[in-house]
Amino acid sequence: MKLIKATAYTFTFTLILLLISCADTLIGDDGKLDEDIYLNYKTKTTLELPFDGEWYIVAGGKTLEQNHHFAPHRHQRYALDIVQVINGKGFSGDGTKNEDYYCFGKRLNAPGDGKIVAVVNNVEDNVPGVLNTKQVWGNYIIIDHLNGEFSCMVHFKKGTIIVKEGDTVIRGQMVGQVGNSGNSYGPHLHYHLQTTSYLWNAVGLPMQFSNYYADTVFKERGEPVTGQRIKKE
Ligand SMILES: [Zn+2]
Repeated sequence: MKLIKATAYTFTFTLILLLISCADTLIGDDGKLDEDIYLNYKTKTTLELPFDGEWYIVAGGKTLEQNHHFAPHRHQRYALDIVQVINGKGFSGDGTKNEDYYCFGKRLNAPGDGKIVAVVNNVEDNVPGVLNTKQVWGNYIIIDHLNGEFSCMVHFKKGTIIVKEGDTVIRGQMVGQVGNSGNSYGPHLHYHLQTTSYLWNAVGLPMQFSNYYADTVFKERGEPVTGQRIKKE
């Protein structure tokens, strides 16, 4: 909830999130976050925002205050949660159906060139507010960028992923649609970059995107953070 209050928008729905148990944490014996040698990592893959139109960053950034992903799970430490917002709201109607949410079913694209190395496409979408804690990632894909970086796109709408393992994808190519599957309170895209093709046992990497607008300011290269409205060039 703190997260929601921190945003510039008045969100009337509670989104999110992946609160996943994982042995690989960055919390030291003293209970504080360890230093991360990847904090200032420069992304090798040329990444673009994986959608069209204007979107809103619900969670992103490199501090725990900004980004609930930042601790304790190392693989998704720099992850983004992204929705669409119109007039300060993420949905029309009462928000009790996935179809009420502006982002639900919207096209998602590959953020960078690579090869598809994992696909799950058969997990039911949740009723908003109800979590699937057994299949926490829901429907997802992993893209191997063939340079030690792997993109993880999570919570797709059931049955909408149109790529399969082994496929080569290019930046901007459609891969599926936004959904609400897995450990997700409401329709959104969770995206992060990591060091392996396995979702649980990787190191999360900061990701810089190319050529986008953050709150109308053009970024040739940048890292979206909580509260920004972002749009591809
Ligand atoms: Zn997330």
